[in-house]
Amino acid sequence: MEMLGTARSIQAVQPAPGRAVTEAQVDELSRRNFLDHIPLSNATNIVPFVLIAICSAYLPDWRLIASLLGLNVLVLVVMYRVSRMLQAEHEESRAGLLWRVYEGLAFVSGLLWAGKMYPVVATLGRDIASMFVCVVIIVSIAVTSMVVASQWRTFLCFLAGVMLCLVPQTVSHIAIIGPVPLLATLGLAPALISLAIAIRRQNRLMIRTQLEKQQLADDLAHALAVAEYLASRDSLTDLYNRRAFVEVANRIGNDAGAAPLSLIIVDLDHFKRINDEFGHGIGDSVLKMTAQLISNTVGPFDVVGRGDGAVARWGGEEFIVLLRNCPLDTAAALAERLRVGLTCLRGMDWPDGLVVSGSFGVARWHSGADLNLGIGQADAAMYQAKNGGRNRVCVYQEDAVAVAVALG
Ligand code: GH3
Ligand code: MG
Ligand code: MG
Repeated sequence: MEMLGTARSIQAVQPAPGRAVTEAQVDELSRRNFLDHIPLSNATNIVPFVLIAICSAYLPDWRLIASLLGLNVLVLVVMYRVSRMLQAEHEESRAGLLWRVYEGLAFVSGLLWAGKMYPVVATLGRDIASMFVCVVIIVSIAVTSMVVASQWRTFLCFLAGVMLCLVPQTVSHIAIIGPVPLLATLGLAPALISLAIAIRRQNRLMIRTQLEKQQLADDLAHALAVAEYLASRDSLTDLYNRRAFVEVANRIGNDAGAAPLSLIIVDLDHFKRINDEFGHGIGDSVLKMTAQLISNTVGPFDVVGRGDGAVARWGGEEFIVLLRNCPLDTAAALAERLRVGLTCLRGMDWPDGLVVSGSFGVARWHSGADLNLGIGQADAAMYQAKNGGRNRVCVYQEDAVAVAVALG
């Protein structure tokens, strides 16, 4: 059941204090983006795999290259599976473990990429197919490094695997191929590291900007909600103000169809006297407590209350309640309950001898009819209650005779 316009706390829409984007948030989104794009980054291996497979047909050691390619595909499949598990894992320690597994697989992948160099390294200077395979391998290592650069540990593991396999090969064949491949291999590491640093920095900057934009949008939405809330509320009681009540009431009226609608207006009795005798502070406290009483009585968990309406501070010490799906006699019973509740109201800071009462007017409002007409009739019944001696409920009857249904 929806409860409209009762004393909802401003805290509910208070904006959170401005927060800066943290490194942890950047890490988190970076990891999520990385995992989301793993199928795409794995796909970057397809073309080099095909090229190497074609070239290896012209090489004597094609069986070894084919086995290494097969193993590499297997590792990529396992890495994909682990990445899916990581996406589904919410427990931090298990996610940490899965990341270590993923990094271990990245190391193995690095070993396998560099391992494919082994069958061609000895014939590098002489065989065009070997040269081509070598170029494809180096380019693939560079591309993979860039792809994993956002996850620094994964990148380092991959690079370590590459270097651990590539350096010994170039050293052991130095007599045949000379020192250039060794020097090129050694130079590859700092080149890849500096490129990865630049890419990682760029990636984190983009993520930070994305998070800041999101946060700005959230803050703006929050600020708008607060502004909307404040514009529709009475600052003392937190109930709807007059303008918001009319808007909400008309909306309720439009949706009501044939369902009965009722209005209650209550004006506190001799409120000026309360102010004069006990001070404005106490007067304010009476208004707040009255607002609370009405909200709670019309609230969704109240047995008699309809739990389905709008409550507003209509004027200084006047309140208005619109009840939907509520026939006149039920509204009158609710008003009576409110009347009794008011007389029992006690505030912590109230002086002895302060007793509050109110005069109630209840009227029907036909959806489709002018709201002012319904309010005017409830007002007339309320004045009838005043004239009848206050602290009572009067119901406006269609034949314009207000009938008192309860006396205080
Ligand atoms: P009646 O029984 O005929 O309604 O008498 P009354 O004294 O309640 O009515 P009257 O209209 O003479 O006085 C209403 C008083 O309510 C006057 C005004 O100072 C006071 N009032 C209006 N708004 C506030 C407010 O926000 N806080 C306080 N403390 N008093 C308010
Ligand atoms: Mg008044
Ligand atoms: Mg009054």
